[in-house]
Amino acid sequence: MVSWDPALLAAPPLRDAEDRLPPAEKLFALRTLPLGEIKAIGFDMDHTLARYRAPEVDELAFKKAARLLVREHQYSPWLLGVEYDPAFAVRGLVLDGLRGNLLKLNRERQVVRACHGSRVLGRPEIEATYGRRRLAAAAKGFRSIDTLFEIPESHLFAQMVDGVDQGFLKADNYLQIFQQVRWAIDTAHRNGEMKAEILEHKDYFIPHDPRLALALDRLKRSGKKLFLLTNSEWTFTDGVLGHLLDGQDEARPKWTDYFDLIVVSSRKPAFFTEAAPAVPIEGHSHCFAGGHTAWLEAQLQAEGDQVLYVGDHIFGDVLRSKKNASWRTLLLVPELERELQLLEAKADGLRDSLRLETVRRRTLRRASVLYDQWKRNRVRRHVLGARLSPEATVALDHEAAHLASSAEALQRRAELQGLELDRLTRSIEAAFNPTWGPIFREGDDQTRFADQIQQYACAYTGRVGNLYMVDPGATVYAPVPALPHERVPLG
Ligand code: IMP
Ligand code: MG
Repeated sequence: MVSWDPALLAAPPLRDAEDRLPPAEKLFALRTLPLGEIKAIGFDMDHTLARYRAPEVDELAFKKAARLLVREHQYSPWLLGVEYDPAFAVRGLVLDGLRGNLLKLNRERQVVRACHGSRVLGRPEIEATYGRRRLAAAAKGFRSIDTLFEIPESHLFAQMVDGVDQGFLKADNYLQIFQQVRWAIDTAHRNGEMKAEILEHKDYFIPHDPRLALALDRLKRSGKKLFLLTNSEWTFTDGVLGHLLDGQDEARPKWTDYFDLIVVSSRKPAFFTEAAPAVPIEGHSHCFAGGHTAWLEAQLQAEGDQVLYVGDHIFGDVLRSKKNASWRTLLLVPELERELQLLEAKADGLRDSLRLETVRRRTLRRASVLYDQWKRNRVRRHVLGARLSPEATVALDHEAAHLASSAEALQRRAELQGLELDRLTRSIEAAFNPTWGPIFREGDDQTRFADQIQQYACAYTGRVGNLYMVDPGATVYAPVPALPHERVPLG
């Protein structure tokens, strides 16, 4: 009897199809990724294989942490009534624990937007506090919002800063609140209550992605070794991945069947820098807690750039695995789908702003040329002085007056164009987030978050299911990087 394989029938028919994919389903390469050379592909779990329902899961963490602070640190019950605002913070921001602020940094690590508590700070206040220098965001007292887990932390901190400023809460200083909020969020993750609630309502909190099992299956069939590397402990991992993968494919009834090696409680980023024993999980073959990079590579017989790791944490999953283990990295950016939708919805506005900026620059250039001519005119007048005939002097002065008024008019026009551009940019950026704008951009500039992605990720995508449409033997090409002088003239 001929047996047929449902997973093979489900394979996508055309490689060209990859090019025609909607952007939300694409994998964007920053470094050329020869998938054929990859022997092992690893996955983080939380916010990577498992996408939690947001903002509901964030609100759960926020409420649990607030309750802990009232119960264990005797903060006023006022805190329990504070509403969770899902739009308050975005990924990539930096908390300033000392000053009670939340900051958006540009590529140069300068503060470009800021809030004190939930109060938006204006440009003069930002400059008075942070100047125009590079901010050492890795220093003590700062905390970078690297994962979606940290969004509720920043909101809780901001609400408590407001509470202190308005006299509802008592604290010695902002840093004390900052540390206690850190403790509360940490405890909420560790004490098991929040995870128990997520598992109890997993249909609600952990939506299925129909392509997840298909993507893993396709990679596995291509001969890659698959591994799981998560900081979550065994019980939670088993509950979450059992919910997502058990029974999705007759050939792999249990979630553990998708992976050649399973590592829980991995302590990333320390997993990439410190040796620790790998303790077998009783009753489950190829499942361990702990371990470290060299041990994992020996288990999989793949090392360095033969390993691709897929994770959502820019520091713990991507930066460390690239810097310390030389693994290739695929960053999961769950926010990407929404950012892409907004880019499409705002395409006309973005084109208008580009046009307006081109016009503004041209106006400024013309003003500058006229101003330069005026300066030369005045120098000439000064140098030639008495040698000029009265008629020539009048003509020169007349020309100078005309140049000055034209240059001023152009300057004023450029300022108005600048204001219009600011208005347009602000309205486009507000659609991404009213306070913070897009996570990747700030006006013409890129953010620190975008810069970190470019430095450390080989590629990025919105969800693991997108790997189903990628040929596991093909090379995903990055745009060729070029310095401005290297641009080849066309035609
Ligand atoms: P991963 O993303 O799969 O590596 O897992 C992240 C794990 O870290 C999850 O189990 C989270 O609950 C946990 N986690 C996130 N933030 C904190 C924290 O602040 N303290 C302790 N655990 C955390
Ligand atoms: Mg994660």
